[in-house]
Amino acid sequence: MTKKLAIISDHIVTPNGVISGCLIVKDGKITEIDEFLPGDFDGEIEMAKDLFIMPGLIDPHVHINEPGRTQWEGFETATTAAAASGITLLVDMPLNSSPVTTNVTNFKLKLEAAKDKLNVNVGFWGGVIPGNRNELDDLLKSGVLGLKAFLTHSGIDDFPNTEKADLKNALQIIKKYNRPLLVHCELTEDHPGIAEHKNNPNDYMSYLRSRPKEWENKAIAMMIDLCRETEAHVHIVHLSSAEALPMIAEAKAEGLNLTVETAQHYLTLNAEDIPNGETIYKCAPPIRERENNNKLWDALKSGLIDFVATDHSPAPPDLKEISSGDLSKAWGGIAGLQFALCSLWTEAKRRNFSVEDIAKWLSASPADFLGLSNKGKLENGADADFFIWDPNGTTTFSSEEIHHRHKVSPYSGKPFAGKVHKTFINGELIYENNKLINANKGTVLLGNF
Ligand SMILES: [Zn+2]
Repeated sequence: MTKKLAIISDHIVTPNGVISGCLIVKDGKITEIDEFLPGDFDGEIEMAKDLFIMPGLIDPHVHINEPGRTQWEGFETATTAAAASGITLLVDMPLNSSPVTTNVTNFKLKLEAAKDKLNVNVGFWGGVIPGNRNELDDLLKSGVLGLKAFLTHSGIDDFPNTEKADLKNALQIIKKYNRPLLVHCELTEDHPGIAEHKNNPNDYMSYLRSRPKEWENKAIAMMIDLCRETEAHVHIVHLSSAEALPMIAEAKAEGLNLTVETAQHYLTLNAEDIPNGETIYKCAPPIRERENNNKLWDALKSGLIDFVATDHSPAPPDLKEISSGDLSKAWGGIAGLQFALCSLWTEAKRRNFSVEDIAKWLSASPADFLGLSNKGKLENGADADFFIWDPNGTTTFSSEEIHHRHKVSPYSGKPFAGKVHKTFINGELIYENNKLINANKGTVLLGNF
């Protein structure tokens, strides 16, 4: 049976600007975007009038942690939270599930665990760790969208960090598949700030000084060298140090196959405002000073930073050391998936950016990065993944309204600009007024498409 739906709106956000008209969906695809509803249209009609229709958001950096650490986060909870933020596709990291996604056997366990639990579309990254070079071809052939590696301790011992030689080897392999290698760029070195932080474990500024910009800068310089040497696609995840921007600019000007993401928390939160002992703000690299973060905004505006991804990485409250406030012991990771849109939009709006900028940073650019020509934009023939929202509305998610497994988040209870009304996956309405109304409509996106 063919299902037809027309949505009429004054604000359809297309690659050619915001237009007034109707968007027609049939069999999970956008078949038409037009100024007027055709007179012979015989499907369902939805009036969105003043509301905006936007391409579904894509978050390429999410730690779902299932199987094995499902008590931290799981497919059902994460994909419901995603739908609440207008996210229609997310890509799961190879850690912190157990086992980690570093070979095909483990990837199959991951796919099995995801079965019947996906409320939005989900893809997967594989992992590079010391010693798994012989697994990488098979992992890529089995459908992971690319590979992820660390240059510093990942936070869990079953995903050890790689050395330069491992990365060079991984880049030579991944180049054949035209897929990216995602790298957590911090090169850890001993320095006096580490001891200082141990003596002041609840002090945010001492935590910040313990993970200096130089760690990121050195790691990024190394990855740029490897990118040049191998001509493979290197992707820098969650850039925090603005000091690395000039070398990224040079590398891009040189034509290297280099892309960069930053995260909402580096753009919307500043070290100066973080109270001591508030471990919900702990992540690595750390949230830095306002002056640094303003430069990240400039780089996002100029296109030097390609897109924004949440790096949603929650943990149970005891591992977050919520009661002790000990930043040296707390799990490093911010729970932000459900706030992906509202947190970024609030700050973007304050800085006079538009909904079209949001569509670029959270949808079109991540789709380009993933090589998906049928997602990330509202146009004829594209997948009907989109959401209806009011950028002039407001959102406050109290802890009961947060769909993450754990409700601890720096964004909980805070008022934000913009309100998501409805989210559609593959042409079907799945989420309405902060409730999942149509479960399990997400599909697995494999790389061998
Ligand atoms: Zn991450």
